[in-house]
Amino acid sequence: MSIHRKSCNCNCSKKESYNSRFSSKMRSVKKMPSKLTMIQSFARSLASRGLTNKKTDIPTKQLRVLSCFGDSSIGGSLGPCEHLTTSEVDGEKFYCGKCGCGDKKSTWLQAESDEYSKLDYPSLACPLRMPGFSNYDGSDCKENIRKNIIENYAPIKITELTVKIAEKD
Ligand code: SF4
Repeated sequence: MSIHRKSCNCNCSKKESYNSRFSSKMRSVKKMPSKLTMIQSFARSLASRGLTNKKTDIPTKQLRVLSCFGDSSIGGSLGPCEHLTTSEVDGEKFYCGKCGCGDKKSTWLQAESDEYSKLDYPSLACPLRMPGFSNYDGSDCKENIRKNIIENYAPIKITELTVKIAEKD
């Protein structure tokens, strides 16, 4: 998987679930968010975690993983997001180089085993408004090729992405 270092099927019910997830999130907010707004969004994400360490659901996390990391882990050809950045603290970890939250454990997109990671937050914004994120917007999918590919991705393939969500913290 080629990563930028710096710069920041199945059964029908599953298909319906993904399709409705895409369509229900087709809300149009066209302006790119400012860095301050993204940090405010991350603060909201922290709040959404709550006192009981609430986490998002597995299908949503799989979509987020596809948006950030692509599908090379399941033999696909969709590369990672251009803003996916390798951590300088731990070369095995990655953070979003676009949102302005920095390179630290709390902002790494995925964590060890069942530890809480950024992609686990129930509410989470993406600077590119990619599928799986709370601010998802598909109105620019003609210009954003990765977004277009993910929007037309076979739901059954997305279920092949391995993600972990701890049942207890
Ligand atoms: S959160 Fe959005 S912009 Fe950041 S790496 Fe993931 S897909 Fe890219």
